[in-house]
Amino acid sequence: MKKILVINSGSSTVKADVFAVENNQPVFQAKALADKIGKADGSLTVKGKGIETRTVAIAGASIETAIREIIEVFAAAGICARENLGAIGHRVVHGGSKFSAPAIITDEITAVISEMSVFAPLHNPANLAGIQFCRAHFTLPQVAVFDTAFHQTMPAVATTYAIPRELSEKYGIRRYGFHGTSHEYVTHECARRMSIPYEKFSAISLHLGNGASACAVQNGKSIDTSMGFTPLEGLVMGTRSGDVDPSLPFFLQNMVGLSAADAESLFNKKSGLLGISGSNDMREIVSRADAGDAAALLAVEIFCARVRKYIGAYLTHGRPHALIFTGGIGENSPAIRQRVLTGLGHLGIAPDRQKNAALPEGGCISAENAIAVFVINTDEELMIARETLRLAHP
Ligand code: AMP
Repeated sequence: MKKILVINSGSSTVKADVFAVENNQPVFQAKALADKIGKADGSLTVKGKGIETRTVAIAGASIETAIREIIEVFAAAGICARENLGAIGHRVVHGGSKFSAPAIITDEITAVISEMSVFAPLHNPANLAGIQFCRAHFTLPQVAVFDTAFHQTMPAVATTYAIPRELSEKYGIRRYGFHGTSHEYVTHECARRMSIPYEKFSAISLHLGNGASACAVQNGKSIDTSMGFTPLEGLVMGTRSGDVDPSLPFFLQNMVGLSAADAESLFNKKSGLLGISGSNDMREIVSRADAGDAAALLAVEIFCARVRKYIGAYLTHGRPHALIFTGGIGENSPAIRQRVLTGLGHLGIAPDRQKNAALPEGGCISAENAIAVFVINTDEELMIARETLRLAHP
């Protein structure tokens, strides 16, 4: 059977994964990361099952050149010759209100992805560049998997901002939610581990990485999530502020003299953990906090307090089957998980300190009789490969 290539092209990185298909399931083979796109010190690293990890320089490479190089390196390493590729899956950040599921890419679909660039100017144009390159160079079925799609089930009460309705309707101003592929993957995986049919499964999913979001899933559907119109709303993130008083940008423009573009950049790129502590690397922040650094400790406390606030909010939907931690921080930091979960016994949440530190097989870290808490490694690429297989039948 032919192989599946999954491409996640961003403005500064291009990631690509190759999957074989065994028993009608995608099976990971190899991954490539083209880092620092467009920069003089750009590099491409390829690793995978049974091959030696290799890194080559790709100085000044565009997204298109990076994908071309990736395909060549995959072929040279014996991972996947061009003619063995059967389908390509692409991550697309913003699908607007038009997509509630992945779609086979056509000219109409690329036009919509392009239209949605006004909502996601950092992401959709880069996603589209990857799609257009692959469509120009391969006559294979290609599938777009949207970060927003999983959240299309959110009811109006969760998607509507309390602003004049005619404006919202005219400009598509609403809460869309992101990280949908990750929330969908980990909630499916958790339901499977708990032997609960997905359509009956309820959970609070916490994707805590450099980008971070919480999602309330009820009966297998997203009913609320912390990111909104853009991926800026909600939790405190590496460089994004998350929720702030909406007056802050006006104050910064009127009183501090920032331009609108400066204010946008400040909330997206200079805030969050970075703004509070000077670093957006949670590993470094936790170790500085442990060593007594007050700014780092405050960053950790604010990050965790915001997560707890959303857990509290989402518990109002009823007792979930599980809380799920995922993302670089959620998967790897027992200290952050412990801090998020401590003192919530009155809400039915109690971590088992030893299990949390040791992370037992299966990933369940909750105490007996409490709401189950799972740590589940997210795998957005596998999810995209599954959807590509389902729609494209390579
Ligand atoms: P992601 O965006 O999902 O790759 O997550 C990146 C974040 O995970 C960064 O802030 C990393 O510092 C953080 N991270 C990774 N490993 C650890 C760890 N062992 N402890 C704390 N944070 C970690």
